Amino acid sequence: MLLNDPLAKVLYIDLSRRSFWIEYRQDLFEKYLGGVGVASMLLKEECPEGIDPFDPKNPIIFAVGPLVGLFPMASKTVAMFKSPLTGNLGESHAGGRSAASIRLAGYGAIVIKGASDIPIYLTIYNDKVRFHDGRAIWGTRSTVAGRALREKEPGSGIRCIMRIGVAGERLVRYACVITETFRHFGRLGLGAVFGSKKLKAIVIAGNNTLQVKKGKIYKEAYKEIFKRILSLSALKKYHDLGTPVNILPLNKIKALPTRNLKTAFFEEAEKISGEHFAENHLGRRLACTHCPIACIHLAALRQPYKDEPYFYKTTFISYDYELIYALGSMLGISDSVGILRLLDEIEILGLDAISTGVVLAWATEAFEKGLITEKETELRPKWGDYESYINMVRKIVTQPNDFYKTLALGVDEAAKRYGGEEFALAFGKNEMPGYHTGPGSYLGFLTGARHSHLDSAGYSFDQKYLGKEFTSKDLAIALFKEESYRQILCSLVICLFARSVYDCQTVLRLLDIAGFTMNEKTLRQLGEEILKNKYQFKIQEGFSFKNLRIPKRILETISPHGQLKEDFLREAINVYQQLLEGKIFLD
Ligand code: SF4
Repeated sequence: MLLNDPLAKVLYIDLSRRSFWIEYRQDLFEKYLGGVGVASMLLKEECPEGIDPFDPKNPIIFAVGPLVGLFPMASKTVAMFKSPLTGNLGESHAGGRSAASIRLAGYGAIVIKGASDIPIYLTIYNDKVRFHDGRAIWGTRSTVAGRALREKEPGSGIRCIMRIGVAGERLVRYACVITETFRHFGRLGLGAVFGSKKLKAIVIAGNNTLQVKKGKIYKEAYKEIFKRILSLSALKKYHDLGTPVNILPLNKIKALPTRNLKTAFFEEAEKISGEHFAENHLGRRLACTHCPIACIHLAALRQPYKDEPYFYKTTFISYDYELIYALGSMLGISDSVGILRLLDEIEILGLDAISTGVVLAWATEAFEKGLITEKETELRPKWGDYESYINMVRKIVTQPNDFYKTLALGVDEAAKRYGGEEFALAFGKNEMPGYHTGPGSYLGFLTGARHSHLDSAGYSFDQKYLGKEFTSKDLAIALFKEESYRQILCSLVICLFARSVYDCQTVLRLLDIAGFTMNEKTLRQLGEEILKNKYQFKIQEGFSFKNLRIPKRILETISPHGQLKEDFLREAINVYQQLLEGKIFLD
């Protein structure tokens, strides 16, 4: 890396002592680049083995990478922590302005340890860190906290404001952290870890500058990357309709999970499609810092005031494919206004929308089957009834009885207690994303370090290999290679939508400009090493391939690849494990 690159600076903050210090960790960044590579090493250093995720010693780590600020779509921040949802690796990525703000404040990573005794919020402006009394914003909606901090704190236009809603304060295991209003560290419960530290928000801004090694070569490379990004038809699609463009194609191949995956075809998909949302609700598009695509779509929801004719409240609500799946087809809701209202409630409270949708879908089916009754739910959950779901979401956060306390732990725990494990759609304890595309999708959810569709994109494998033959070993190897290379992209913190632009040769060229000398072999080896580091942490904290639960429901509902077989998935898991353990070597 370049001499004196501020990327090597790690800001350590101790909330218990209200102190902070900076260390130069050239050793980490030289070797692991940034992002997931560096964050997983910091997690290993900072997180004591076997601690409770709500122990003050559980660290929150944010890390960015060497291409942030230099190249387009190097726009993500990686957060790592011990997850309160799964009990092992917590890893969540967000865009917005977070990465640019951390890099321009002069850091490659921030480590937050300890816990405050009263609610606080933090401000980080370059080398200055302040601890502010946060009692006035504790208990407020995520939107209100954001607005208050926007008015009170400086840095408009360059700052990032991360904050939690009441779900994080109440330790809902799938509470999220919201950044820049419409972006999220959504998955695996970072919001609850903030809440356990009584940390309501963090404001980050800075005005440092970045260096490059070879100015002329940098400019040429920049122009080329920018042009390649703009020429990609897939990215144009995401600009036009956003990721909801995928609703209709996935429904057409019968891969859109519907009513808790009782089926994978939603007969009213047209009404929740990207086209429908754009035509009826699209208010504006947004981009993460330094991204020419702007895939973020905001609906303008206009709602009349009850007793005031001709007066309307207009709320901007971000929507994407995963949210429409989890709160639309999965709950049988075809009313797009209903989906937006539910989504708005989830945003205000600060919950992960995917987990919330899957939890509600399980509860509805459990209610239908008589495993739970109105005694537990205090209302009658019903497919399509978004008003009841809005009430249930509120109760998940307020937790008025044991049932809602259990729902706040996630669907895996709820099914353990009330039954219905066969239709509790979590993998590695993380609620499923919206792809019933075939075995690739589920192998990815099961084996991915985050149990996310973004780990190894098994859904993409399924669609590419539709109608073609492959073995469980072929599948496991393909996903292992994909997940390994994604560790490089996520260390550079490249948005995964740009993965085809940032191929291996391009990444090597850009790394050279940023002062890193590597070759294809060392780069690919590094990807595997980072993945193995993450698994080491998972296994140390109790994760086991052997104990992975495969819900029967995914085997019952026919996928585009036909009926899925548990044996096939178990064989593929076994190969994946051997690849990680180095018992199978790849060329
Ligand atoms: S494509 Fe979307 S998510 Fe990716 S950087 Fe651009 S705006 Fe952000």
